Amino acid sequence: MSLFADEAHASTNEATYDFAQKRLDAFLPLAGRVYASQRNHDFGPGAHTKVSGLSPWLRHRLLLETDVLRDVLSRHGFSAAEKFIQEVFWRGYFKGWLEHHPEVWKRYRSNLMNQIQALETDASLARRYEEAVQGNTGIDCFDAWAQELTQTHYLHNHARMWFASIWIFTLNLPWELGADFFYRHFLDGDAASNTCSWRWVGGLHTAGKTYLARPANIEDYTQGRFSPAGQLSPDAIPLTEPDLGPRIPLALDHPDLAGQRVGLLVTAEDCAPHRVEAMPRPEALFAWTDPVPRSLRPTAAAVDDFAVQAVTQAADAAQEHFGINCVRPEPGEASADALVNWARQSKLDVIVTPRMPLGPTRRMVLSTLSKHDLSCVEITRPYDQAVWPHARAGFFGLKKKIPAIIADLGLL
Ligand SMILES: Cc1cc2nc3c(=O)[nH]c(=O)nc-3n(C[C@H](O)[C@H](O)[C@H](O)COP(=O)(O)OP(=O)(O)OC[C@H]3O[C@@H](n4cnc5c(N)ncnc54)[C@H](O)[C@@H]3O)c2cc1C
Repeated sequence: MSLFADEAHASTNEATYDFAQKRLDAFLPLAGRVYASQRNHDFGPGAHTKVSGLSPWLRHRLLLETDVLRDVLSRHGFSAAEKFIQEVFWRGYFKGWLEHHPEVWKRYRSNLMNQIQALETDASLARRYEEAVQGNTGIDCFDAWAQELTQTHYLHNHARMWFASIWIFTLNLPWELGADFFYRHFLDGDAASNTCSWRWVGGLHTAGKTYLARPANIEDYTQGRFSPAGQLSPDAIPLTEPDLGPRIPLALDHPDLAGQRVGLLVTAEDCAPHRVEAMPRPEALFAWTDPVPRSLRPTAAAVDDFAVQAVTQAADAAQEHFGINCVRPEPGEASADALVNWARQSKLDVIVTPRMPLGPTRRMVLSTLSKHDLSCVEITRPYDQAVWPHARAGFFGLKKKIPAIIADLGLL
């Protein structure tokens, strides 16, 4: 089995821990100076060999940030792998930032709903949108990335930045529709990394600071495959928005559950619940195996399949680890209904689950449980407890803390 990054993102790839660990092992020799010098090059579909391609497994927590950091540090040490280590921390930065600013997710979803409705009524918007997502704009690089995204469910980071910038500043399309297009097609589609990155490109995350895709930069970093001179907007006027209000404090600890009858819920948000240190020993297990819709528009089948396979592998691993059967919905039964039946039949005091970050799964699970008066406790991983409090205005604050976090978590 080849482990090159483009293939890792195709729908045939395995959403399993073993597959991810093999991919990590294959990438490890490159995680030091090779990554630092070549990570910005987009060599095109089939050739994303200088980046790890680990994002789908990290996003579903089949593989943990701590697994990756520990192996990379042991192979290269901190200085040689600093650039790669920082990129891994960007994920925690965006996750922590969004958790502290739930208003951003709420507004994004509400604006997106309005934009999707506008596609029904505004023929010009609908035409321009269709040209963009079908890869028919006439801008070669953009059209190639639109096709690569829908065919492989992956894009290189630099291509994501250029694509988002062209979408917003050259095609003048609403950023929420572009973020939704990404979110529904990436195997690594992540509420925080995706939404915050689009906002960063548009000049909302760091107010007033935009990312402009420049033809010469695209030509250089695609080895001359594309040459969009004269086709792209020469400037990027920042998007604006009403004030977001204050940063909301987060509770990252959880109550003592000693003496309570606990059931463990497995979701696609964290597919290694058997590897959460503080997880109480459960009396019953349940896996939410239905794909949770990411949007009003359809999610790519390969993306749903990956998530379902990830949860199934997590359910199997939890079953083996705790030595009890993991209940899954019967064929044709919705996970929400099956979850409620399981909780009642198991006579649980409380349902525990690894923390579900903001996004459709959290909303779906918590609304199901609250409708039926079932209580839920989320367990936050030590990595998130260590990283999220430092996700403040810019990445720099977290960047300074990386060596201390690595030491505190015993990763080196
Ligand atoms: C507009 C836009 C949308 C994006 N949407 C997503 C998304 O939905 N899901 C997602 O996981 N990433 C997203 N990213 C971040 C980044 O592009 C991907 O994480 C990265 O390209 C994944 O490829 P890789 O695993 O080969 O990364 P590598 O370069 O090998 O990095 C290793 C890991 O670090 C993390 N990482 C690297 N760069 C970033 C970054 N800039 N922000 C956050 N985490 C990072 C990822 O977990 C990645 O797997 C987005 C970036 C942009 C500009």
